[in-house]
Amino acid sequence: MPHFAKGVVKFQNDVYPQKKELFEKLRKGQSPEALFITCSDSRIETAMITQTEPGELFICRNAGNIVPPYLPQGGAMTASIEFAVAVLNVPHIVICGHTECGAMNGAMDPESLDGLPHVKQWLGYARAAVEIVNADTGDKSEDERMRLLLEQNVLLQMQHLKTHPAVAKRLSKGDLTLHGWIYDIRTGDVAALDEAGETFLPVDERYAREMAALAGDDNCTA
Ligand SMILES: [Zn+2]
Repeated sequence: MPHFAKGVVKFQNDVYPQKKELFEKLRKGQSPEALFITCSDSRIETAMITQTEPGELFICRNAGNIVPPYLPQGGAMTASIEFAVAVLNVPHIVICGHTECGAMNGAMDPESLDGLPHVKQWLGYARAAVEIVNADTGDKSEDERMRLLLEQNVLLQMQHLKTHPAVAKRLSKGDLTLHGWIYDIRTGDVAALDEAGETFLPVDERYAREMAALAGDDNCTA
């Protein structure tokens, strides 16, 4: 029996009964707080990283956490984004890249993808980010170049998001916030783009104001 099938039995016997109330509630519908777009990489466990329960994140995953720019003929990402933004009315969209990303390594070295035509084509959506890194004439190490690519790719995919009509509409109404994150597999750290959209900061620093407000609310209700 594969490990993951054994896990289902354990889930049914041990976990589901403990969370029965939550699952009963979720039967009536979902109202997730965010559309969470990240890489398919098996080392990213969204619920663990964000400490969220079922029902809290609407998740789209693909190689390289990519959002193709809007095209009328659409596709899987376009449909999922439209549904999350126009039907579920998520107030937040997170694009979360990560360190040690095989997709970004491939994007940086397209020749390594010659036997993988579909991967190569898909990572073409990250090409502008690669060009920015290649145009950087500073004396950067390979690690620094990769970090720059991770950041530029998140920024690029955030730009692509804005081309989707449902996203543009909600942004114009001012009730949708875009977030750019990078998860570090080696340390567990998450860096989040600041409000000006310029610098990636440790997540506790980026959301210090929001967290203080939440703590204030907790104190009031205590
Ligand atoms: Zn990845």
